Amino acid sequence: SKSSIYEPLTENTAVALTVRLQLFEDSSVLTCKEIGDGNLNLVFHIKDQLTNNGIIIKQALPYAKVIGESWPLTLDRARIESSALLKQAEVVPTLVPKIFYTDESLAITVMEDLSHLQISRAALLDGKDLPLLSEHIGEFLAKTLFYTSDYALDPRKKKQLVKQFSNPDLCKITEDFVFTDPFFDVESNNFEEELRTDVERIWNDTHLKLEVAKLKQKFLTSAEALVHGDLHTGSIFASESKTKVIDPEFAYYGPLGFDIGHFFANLLLNSLSRAEENREVLFKHIETTWAVFTREFTKAWENDSLEVFTKVEGYLEDVLSQVFEDAIGYAGVEMIRRTIGLAHVADLDTIEPLERRIEAKQTALAIGSELVKKKKEITDPNQLRSYAAAFA
Ligand code: ADP
Ligand code: MG
Ligand code: MG
Ligand code: MG
Repeated sequence: SKSSIYEPLTENTAVALTVRLQLFEDSSVLTCKEIGDGNLNLVFHIKDQLTNNGIIIKQALPYAKVIGESWPLTLDRARIESSALLKQAEVVPTLVPKIFYTDESLAITVMEDLSHLQISRAALLDGKDLPLLSEHIGEFLAKTLFYTSDYALDPRKKKQLVKQFSNPDLCKITEDFVFTDPFFDVESNNFEEELRTDVERIWNDTHLKLEVAKLKQKFLTSAEALVHGDLHTGSIFASESKTKVIDPEFAYYGPLGFDIGHFFANLLLNSLSRAEENREVLFKHIETTWAVFTREFTKAWENDSLEVFTKVEGYLEDVLSQVFEDAIGYAGVEMIRRTIGLAHVADLDTIEPLERRIEAKQTALAIGSELVKKKKEITDPNQLRSYAAAFA
C-alpha cells in the first residue's frame, strides 16, 4: 500500500505503527530495539514482554553509508524486497519470513520475527553443521528460479515480471563492486598490504579478466529468472531444523547460476576459516545443494513446463550444465571480491593471527581465479572439491 510521506522511523514511531496496524493484543507491553547493521537499512525488533511474541520492521534509508562516505540510494529497493519475498512465498512459503504489511512510501516491510534462528554465517563460524541448510537452499533455488523463468511462465507474464523487478541502482552496485572494481587498481578496493603481489597478479591476468567480463555481461543482460541477488550466508537464518532466506533487496531478472554461485562461494570462504579436517561438511553442503537443486528443478521441468521445447531430449541436461558452469564462475568472482573488494566476510576477516589470515586470503584468491578460468572443466561438485583442495 501507499499511505504516507517517507520519514525514517524511530523506536517510538515504529511501536506506534505496530499499534496502529493492530499487530499485537491491546494488553501487550511492547519494547523496541533497532538491530540493523546500519549501512543501508533500519531493522526494528518489536516485542511483547508478556508473551515474547515479536515482529520485525525493516525500513530502507535513502542513502548508503560506507567508510564514512554517504551516497543516495533508491528507496525503491524496499518495494523490490517485499515483492520478492511475496513472490518467493508463492513457491517456498516455509523458506521465507511471513510478511504482515508493506508500505512503499515508507519503504517498509513488516515481517515475521526470526530471532529464534541464527544467521547462517555466524552459525557456521560457531562450528555448527546446520544439517538441513543445503537441502532447504537447494529447494529454494530450484523453485524460485524455475517458477519465475520462461520454462514455467507465459512469456508475456514473464516480461511483466522482468519490468516489475527492474532494479537498476542495486544492480549497479553489484556491477561495480562485484564485477569491476576488484579487477582494477581503484580506490574502493580494500586489502592488506601483504596481499599486494597476489592482487597485482589478478589485475594483470588477462585470461581471468576476459572471463570476468563475460560473466559481467551475462549479469547485465541475461534475464533468465528472478534471482535473490545477494544470497550469501548472511542472508540466511537457520537452525537444526529450519531455514529462512531474507534480504532480497538486490532481486532482479538475472542468470540462473548467480545465486547458486554466491551460496557456493560463501560456503567455500567459510571452509577456509576452518582447520582442514573440519572442511568436509561445507563440501557436503555444496554437493547436497546441487543434488537437491537438480532433483527439484528436474521435477518442476517435467511437471510444470509451459515451454514446448522442454520435451526435447537433452535440453534439460544442457540447461543444467550451463547453470553449473555459470555458478562456478560467479562463485569465483564472489570469492575474489569478498577478499579484496569493498565488502568483506567475517569468515576471512576474523581469522587470527594475521599470518594465517593472509594465507587463507591468498588461498581464496587462488581458488576464485581458478574457478573463473576453469569453469568449463569443473562439471560437478566432486570436481569442485578437488580443484579447491589442490590449493588448501
Ligand atoms: P541489510 O539489507 O541491511 O543487510 P538484513 O535484511 O540483512 O538487512 O537484516 C540485517 C540484520 O537484521 C540481520 O542480519 C538480522 O540480524 C536482523 N534481521 C533482519 N530480518 C530479521 C527477521 N525477520 N527476524 C529477526 N532478525 C532480523
Ligand atoms: Mg547488512
Ligand atoms: Mg543483509
Ligand atoms: Mg541487504
